[in-house]
Amino acid sequence: MTIPVLIVGAGPSGLTAAVELSRLGVDVRIVDRAVRPSTESRALAVQARTMELLRVRGIGDEMLALGNQARAAGLYTGDRKLAPIELHRMPSRFNFILMLAQSETERLLAEQLARQGVKVERGVEVTSVRPGGDTVAVTLRGAEGAEERVEASFVIATDGPRSTLRKTLGVPFPGRTLPQDYVLADLHIDGDLPEDEVSIFLARGGFVAVFPMGRGRFRMMATDPDGLLDGDADPTAEQMQRLYDRTVGVPARLHDVNWSSRFRINSRHVPTMRAGRVFLGGDAAHVHSPAGGQGMNVGIQDMVNLSWKLAMVLDGRARADLLDTYSSERLPVIRTVVRFTEIGTRVFNSTNPVLHALRIRLAPKALARNAVQNAAAAMFGQVSAGYRGDALAEGGGGVGALRAGDRVPDVGGLYDALDLGALTLFTAGQAIVDVGRSWDGVVSVRDAAALTPDGWLLVRPDGYLAAAGGPGDAAMLDRWLERWFVRPAVTI
Ligand SMILES: Cc1cc2nc3c(=O)[nH]c(=O)nc-3n(C[C@H](O)[C@H](O)[C@H](O)COP(=O)(O)OP(=O)(O)OC[C@H]3O[C@@H](n4cnc5c(N)ncnc54)[C@H](O)[C@@H]3O)c2cc1C
Repeated sequence: MTIPVLIVGAGPSGLTAAVELSRLGVDVRIVDRAVRPSTESRALAVQARTMELLRVRGIGDEMLALGNQARAAGLYTGDRKLAPIELHRMPSRFNFILMLAQSETERLLAEQLARQGVKVERGVEVTSVRPGGDTVAVTLRGAEGAEERVEASFVIATDGPRSTLRKTLGVPFPGRTLPQDYVLADLHIDGDLPEDEVSIFLARGGFVAVFPMGRGRFRMMATDPDGLLDGDADPTAEQMQRLYDRTVGVPARLHDVNWSSRFRINSRHVPTMRAGRVFLGGDAAHVHSPAGGQGMNVGIQDMVNLSWKLAMVLDGRARADLLDTYSSERLPVIRTVVRFTEIGTRVFNSTNPVLHALRIRLAPKALARNAVQNAAAAMFGQVSAGYRGDALAEGGGGVGALRAGDRVPDVGGLYDALDLGALTLFTAGQAIVDVGRSWDGVVSVRDAAALTPDGWLLVRPDGYLAAAGGPGDAAMLDRWLERWFVRPAVTI
């Protein structure tokens, strides 16, 4: 029997795909070679856009209850605050960074998945993939070594940065590994550090960033430019204290490390996220510095982008080439994130005294400008990213400043009214309603006299604008739908 979708890897990306696809009625199998879920806290930052998407998918409230909110990021030198980055300016109801251990995000996703009747198959490794015409042949090896050969219509490769599938399929992963060594630790800090702000301490030749996890616990990330930490074992509290004291001017005592690690930054992404019937996503497709707290979020959003398209193609409601827009929409977003984290890493790590003096002088001036603050907050929260200019947005028009491909803001309860398995047409005009109804199953119609009295909005399940226009644009709406979707058969 052919499996509609096999998901390889049950990290945050794979789990999101499984939650999303199974909720949309697609039969999925999800396998992970690890026997147990990871207990490492790894990605700590959950960004506003991720929260917007996960809230309407059932797990946002629990995440909010468990996490700690950072509403600003303060830049310091020594004990002097240079300027805050005002994250609370994000144009989102989640106008903060939610600090929550990745293991908790994964647990909540897996629990939601179990409620939807799907269990992660653990201790199951994919050892080979062979793409065919209509299916992909995959070999699975269980914990005891038993092999199973399966056929899948589509495979989602969310098997992490060393992706077996990416390598087997010969998809390149160009980029570079940065030379600096980084350390991080989750520990207790007794000292006068804010618990509702990220604190970033800049020094000549390195930085210390401290992320508040709540109740006195923090994630500390730092460079070690003077080689204060010898050996390559995971850093201890005493070693982190040495790095802290070297750079931070706020006295504090560091203790009780429950997870620590050393790492080097890789900055890479694939040139395409699709290889025939295999889709690459999450760290299998892109890796970069964890400093901006973007990585896991990008992976989750990859899967939200892919899943509704895949579900609609599988059940015949959408044309097959809709699937090409997964890669064409996500790659520009990923390139921007990789570039922005690379620039940030270069600025933060510079050992050049002139550059250090310059950033100390320029940061307060730049951050005094409203436009810079607004852009920075929206970028961190991933709410300014969108798909304007991609094929799917062509001919989709717009309304006011909102163009096809843009993120639709969650105003007036709009996200709660979204049909997460179809396009949602918000309109009050009869001619537009008639077009919407003729696309039953592809389009769900919502009366929206209060939201958009004159115009109409067609919103995708992932909260981006598919198309929009005025009362006279019924033909344009029909044309746009015709390009990507399959007109339902008329029943008499
Ligand atoms: C030390 C460290 C610190 C980090 N800190 C941050 C941070 O602060 N902020 C941030 O945003 N990101 C951070 N990251 C990155 C973040 O953890 C990743 O972006 C995130 O885990 C990506 O999720 P994923 O689901 O794409 O891949 P992964 O989480 O890597 O999951 C891949 C899964 O695939 C499974 N797998 C692999 N190969 C196979 C196979 N052949 N068959 C079956 N299963 C397989 C693995 O067991 C794994 O469970 C950090 C990473 C590390 C290592």
